[in-house]
Amino acid sequence: MSKASFVTLKPGRGERAHGMVRIPGIEPAWEIPAYVLRGKETGPTLAITAGIHCAEYPGIAAALRVAQETDPAELRGTLIILPLVNTPGFFERSMYTNPRDHKNINRTFPGKADGSPSERVTHFLTTELIKNADAYIDLHGGDMIEALIPFTIYQRTGKAAVDKQSEELALTFDLDFVLAAEPDAVPGASYTAAAKLGIPAVITEVGQQGVFESASVERHVRGIRNALIRLKMVEGQEVLYANPKRLERFEWLHAKAQGLYYPAVSVGQNVEKGQAIGDVRDLFGEVQQELKAPISGPVLFIVTALAVRKGDPLIGIGAAPANPAG
Ligand SMILES: [Zn+2]
Repeated sequence: MSKASFVTLKPGRGERAHGMVRIPGIEPAWEIPAYVLRGKETGPTLAITAGIHCAEYPGIAAALRVAQETDPAELRGTLIILPLVNTPGFFERSMYTNPRDHKNINRTFPGKADGSPSERVTHFLTTELIKNADAYIDLHGGDMIEALIPFTIYQRTGKAAVDKQSEELALTFDLDFVLAAEPDAVPGASYTAAAKLGIPAVITEVGQQGVFESASVERHVRGIRNALIRLKMVEGQEVLYANPKRLERFEWLHAKAQGLYYPAVSVGQNVEKGQAIGDVRDLFGEVQQELKAPISGPVLFIVTALAVRKGDPLIGIGAAPANPAG
């Protein structure tokens, strides 16, 4: 399945190519920066995207750094990196969505060739990038108003070989938690689409609240390097220290109406099922929605804006497997 090129970028063996790639069928033009690093030796193709959520900055900077610093002469196989997918949203500092159709791109996979701009982007990524890859990593973090503890998600598919490779990628990325999600836990997400194609894939979440800071960039870079070593695309020793804890599902709570959000817990904190974890109030400060933890486990992300709209996610909680050894 391995492919050594991406659309118009076709480097020779041991070479790097980069350029803007235009997504078909979108006016005005939607172009994204792309790097292709082709190793001297043949091997797997690893695809990496960042900036699908364009204010999740550490992943974008990490993707660029790996694209520039990895030596294709020392590489086995091909590394394809798209460091900023949501280019129209980036300079507007868009949160969650893109300004062309106001959709969350990461809910529109696998996309549609004749759909809205987001759907055309994800159709392009699915058919031109993910389908041709042997493994896929999508870099994320907490958006402008999200506090977050670093974690990785992959989707369980029931296919033992694919699940094993996704799990290995997630573990070697070495974040605080690894969440093995049930099928279609997040419909339309990048890793959901990859899992359906039988491509091992993970989404990574490092960084928070629209802050561009070096520690989260480093953590992403280290995770990508570990993944390249695990896939035997570069020589070296994986650097592992986080010892990720396993989770098997997550629950999100959403705002039932617009209002003011008062969380009562912090990100990373363990909550018990039924525990009061915050509320949503009206403009007079009267509580309209009481929030109770639907499961016991760690708080993975939490919205830090006072203002919330109807339907907005407020908090995400992970659940550990019933048998932690399993
Ligand atoms: Zn994201």
